Amino acid sequence: MIEKTLLITGASRGIGAEIAKLFAQNGYNISFCYKTSEKEAKAIENELLKYNVKVYSQKADLTQSCEIKSFVDNTISKFKKIDVLINNAGVGLQKLFIDCDENDYEYIFNSNIKSMILVTKFVLPNMLKYKKGKIINISSIWGEIGGSCEVLYSASKSACIGFTKALSKEYGLENINVNAISPGFILTDMNNNLSEKEIEDYKNTLSLNKLGTTSDVAELALFLASKKSDYITGQIIGINGGAY
Ligand code: NAP
Repeated sequence: MIEKTLLITGASRGIGAEIAKLFAQNGYNISFCYKTSEKEAKAIENELLKYNVKVYSQKADLTQSCEIKSFVDNTISKFKKIDVLINNAGVGLQKLFIDCDENDYEYIFNSNIKSMILVTKFVLPNMLKYKKGKIINISSIWGEIGGSCEVLYSASKSACIGFTKALSKEYGLENINVNAISPGFILTDMNNNLSEKEIEDYKNTLSLNKLGTTSDVAELALFLASKKSDYITGQIIGINGGAY
């Protein structure tokens, strides 16, 4: 069997960890990074190794260009070819726009957008060399419809959508597919500030009347990485239980 490698950012917890596990179960070698959760990352690494795939993990703050470059370079040294890139790492911020300052802007845009742009920039030459690749960016429903008290976060996730669409046009002829997944509410640490009542109220607005899981997102990522999605590019795939 031909080996395939996934490079994913932010897989120590939440959606990223679930994606890494599903891809490992499906035979992918995994390279992932995290910012601070060393213990959680080690536990995920041990779990992935049970699937008899190769695993590389690195502590890398994706707001720092040199740390991104080191992570990507080390991944390429170990695996030679990156078949799938998933730009997953991200942070949220719930605050009235009027109270946000320049530090908040830098925190959100460096974590969510600068990181995505630079990781992609460093990975792309490897995909161009093999004239093949799948890039999957994790946006958000708030980037599509806008979220009150999450103006900077919503703006960063809209930027992800523009980035995805433009990149898909520039590299389509090189056989590189670029798509974004746009999840609605998924229960992870990112949302642990919400009360049970707020979560229940949100659930009741959904057509499917149930919350999405990290596994729902992981299954969609696996599909977008597979041959089955070869004719899909430049798309923003919503996975939100029918939120709008
Ligand atoms: P999470 O549970 O908070 O996990 C975030 C992951 O990103 C962690 O692995 C974290 O590493 C990593 N990370 C954050 N900043 C980083 C940095 N500067 N450098 C390296 N790694 C960094 O979040 P999640 O809910 O799984 O979210 C994953 C993605 O889905 C994000 O892009 C988010 O915006 C998007 N999303 C989430 C939801 C939702 O409802 N949960 C909905 C729509 C979109 P550490 O563990 O080391 O901190």
